[in-house]
Amino acid sequence: MKPSYPLMLTALFGLFALTGCGVVAPGLAAAPPTPVPKTHHSAAKQKPRTPSPVTVPRPTSGNELGVVPILEYHMIGPTEGRWQRTPQGLYQDLTWLYDHGFALVTMQQYESGDMNLPAGKHPAVLTFDDGDYSQFEWNSAHVPLPTSAVGVLEAFQKAHPDFPVTATFYLNNHPFGVDSVAKMQWLVAHGFELGNHTYTHADMSSLDASGIEKEIGEEQAYIEQSVPGYVPVSFALPYGGLPQDPTDRTAVLNGSYQGISWHFLGVALVGANPAPSPYSKTFSVSIPRIQVVDPSLVASSTRYYILSGYEAQFLQDPSMLYTSDGSPKWISFPQNLSAQLNPAYSSRANPEQ
Ligand SMILES: [Zn+2]
Repeated sequence: MKPSYPLMLTALFGLFALTGCGVVAPGLAAAPPTPVPKTHHSAAKQKPRTPSPVTVPRPTSGNELGVVPILEYHMIGPTEGRWQRTPQGLYQDLTWLYDHGFALVTMQQYESGDMNLPAGKHPAVLTFDDGDYSQFEWNSAHVPLPTSAVGVLEAFQKAHPDFPVTATFYLNNHPFGVDSVAKMQWLVAHGFELGNHTYTHADMSSLDASGIEKEIGEEQAYIEQSVPGYVPVSFALPYGGLPQDPTDRTAVLNGSYQGISWHFLGVALVGANPAPSPYSKTFSVSIPRIQVVDPSLVASSTRYYILSGYEAQFLQDPSMLYTSDGSPKWISFPQNLSAQLNPAYSSRANPEQ
């Protein structure tokens, strides 16, 4: 589905609105982050034991309250466009991330705080909206074409075995032109995430709760039926449009429709900043993303809010980035950021001494 003119306008507006005042989706921002509980069924059945003292050593570096770039792509094609990146451009973006110590995670991993990266790595997320055919074309043997996004990701992975490649695809009905179901199954089998982007790319700001539930529920059912056992937990707002009525917004996050229910960990916005750490007080379910656009195609005042603008900022001050301490148990950060930690995570806090 090619972005329509209204999408372009809304997305541009979102870019300015979200950066100009720093406000992100107030209706959803109020919800507290929900860490994903980890269950160990076999362990739960064992006899209770006296808890052993914590033996996991405290890391001595890392900033797990820094920001995370979540990159937003739409189409892949032969020329750079406002909503299109070339295969070479995507490969170049991956190269920049690789060269500057980033590691890719899915939206689900970011949203849940379950990123588990080696010490020193900065998490980043790749997102692809709308299931455009150019994101995933393959040949008759089901090998991704090198001109498609998935082909570029696979080629980069092959050339950089130490850089696990993953991404989140926000889908509408029947994505990627042909072989939709087979491609969705292939993506899940290869470690990619499928997210819900509504069944018909509907503008949530023009729907009431029942309309929202139908749009989200039909897509949730479509993905779950296409990939048995798979349950999407990430959602992206078409056009960045939130429901007008704050009470209807709850239907976006948690709802049910004809026997299908959903609980989303996050709602991805259209623009336009790096996202906060999932452990930060400023984290909310409304998650900002950075658009990837060739800088020649946007106004100079907007260039700061696309990837190339943030590349410069990250290079100038790498301390702003989330940097893993290498320990899934501890949440490490510089002492002066202590007040930014979400109190829900205080038992894991490891401020730098
Ligand atoms: Zn979209």
